[in-house]
Amino acid sequence: MDADDPAAVPGPASPNETAPDPIPLSALQHAVYCLRQAALIHLERMWAENRFTAEGHVLHIAADRPGHRRIKGVRRVSALPLASARLGIAGVADLVEFHAGNEAGSDIETAYPVEFKRGKAKLHRADEVQLCAQGLCLEEMTGAPVPEGALFYGETKRRGAVPFTPELRALTEETVAALREVFSTGVTPPPTPLISRCRACSLAELCRPKAVARPAAAFRRRMVETLSHESPAQP
Ligand code: SF4
Repeated sequence: MDADDPAAVPGPASPNETAPDPIPLSALQHAVYCLRQAALIHLERMWAENRFTAEGHVLHIAADRPGHRRIKGVRRVSALPLASARLGIAGVADLVEFHAGNEAGSDIETAYPVEFKRGKAKLHRADEVQLCAQGLCLEEMTGAPVPEGALFYGETKRRGAVPFTPELRALTEETVAALREVFSTGVTPPPTPLISRCRACSLAELCRPKAVARPAAAFRRRMVETLSHESPAQP
């Protein structure tokens, strides 16, 4: 699912429960794009469709059908439920391939998640983080390393490998922690300072980022004016 597409299994957010519900994998992607967007969708249950989200739905209609196939010795499982108890995340992978053997030459299958996206590869890392989270779930579920996965983009019809580097793993876990904070406090963060992202965001009308940011800016301006009147220039 795409960053502005909340249809990817938004699980209930329960800020006051002792055992919190798992964070949906799709929320990680939303959070990397904009933490406020993730909170609006998964905490406040807001949603609005635009062209980008509609295209994402169409792409996922096929990918979301559960199924097993074997192609050239690779076992392919569609719509596979995933979870990590350690991280408290859960969701459904579009496709997980299970390749025979691994780098150490053992018989253990190596899981390889593949996520389908509309459009093309993006400058931000939202898609990579969502995919890496799938890899972390698969490592916990299979007990075997998952060194990389792939993103398939509908516009370019290309599949690119994404290595799960220590840096990407750290970013993924930081994103989980940020979301956990949002869900546990129940506080929706302020708009992203990256206003170019708001133009492609289906929630822009509901979020009203400029209107939300304006009172804070006006307050800061008033404070500066007040302080400058109260503190006459020193000789
Ligand atoms: S409109 Fe901008 S600030 Fe609001 S949710 Fe979308 S990206 Fe975030």
